[in-house]
Amino acid sequence: MIGNEEDARPGPDDPPGERPPVDRTARSTPDVEVDVDDEAAVHRCPRCDRPFRAERQRDLHLGESHDDLADDERAAYEAAAEAEDDDLFFFHMKVVITLGVLYSSTVLLYTAIVGFTG
Ligand SMILES: [Zn+2]
Repeated sequence: MIGNEEDARPGPDDPPGERPPVDRTARSTPDVEVDVDDEAAVHRCPRCDRPFRAERQRDLHLGESHDDLADDERAAYEAAAEAEDDDLFFFHMKVVITLGVLYSSTVLLYTAIVGFTG
């Protein structure tokens, strides 16, 4: 058989709605050596000891990679996910505004060039 036995994604012939269980820990916790310069500035996952730069990143990792969360960890994950959604919304708004300004500038510049050159 060709393929990776650990690849548990459903194929085109698999019946819909039947998804195999996913090992969430293996998905987002790679076995990579991490060299941390400033241990005091690192927020480590209490489950897998993975280091993160920000507390919010650690909270997101906890909620997405570990199932056995305490109530305060669940609340921190939900707050971090909501803050992440807000940041993503503002990023999308900045992209849309930037594209709008670029498009308008291009149209105005093109109109001015065509108008002056005849
Ligand atoms: Zn972890």
